[in-house]
Amino acid sequence: MVNQKVVLKFSAALVEQPIIYRLIKNYDLMVNIIKAEINPRREGSLIMELSGQPDNFQSGISFLEGLGVVVEPLSQTVVRDEERCSHCGACTVVCPVGALYMNRPSMEVGFDNEKCLVCGLCVSYCPLKAMDVKWGD
Ligand code: SF4
Ligand code: SF4
Repeated sequence: MVNQKVVLKFSAALVEQPIIYRLIKNYDLMVNIIKAEINPRREGSLIMELSGQPDNFQSGISFLEGLGVVVEPLSQTVVRDEERCSHCGACTVVCPVGALYMNRPSMEVGFDNEKCLVCGLCVSYCPLKAMDVKWGD
């Protein structure tokens, strides 16, 4: 089973076509739409999670690209607002991989972006809303 978040960008001519319906019906894919920006007569974009058997997944992507849809993997990252962070340390308790950690003896909270799993726990836990998930597209 493949499970991947992707960004679709498509022209105004494709906005009214039943692309999602065909992905589900013809390629047996599960589609979870995360964000949609669709305006009649303008370019559209969709961020969605696609899951299915590898062959179906690849065929579904080829179908989209054949229509002229630009398909890119979604990149997500977590960022810290250094101005907001008070180095209280609360996030270091919830981070499952030690990407947020207390530096001693300075007692400043460090953030190792390379270790981050983008689980989002620190985002909901931070009392000052200093952590945020950025969606790349
Ligand atoms: S919980 Fe928020 S304010 Fe506290 S150290 Fe972590 S990012 Fe900074
Ligand atoms: S998103 Fe998850 S893994 Fe990344 S820093 Fe926050 S708690 Fe740690």
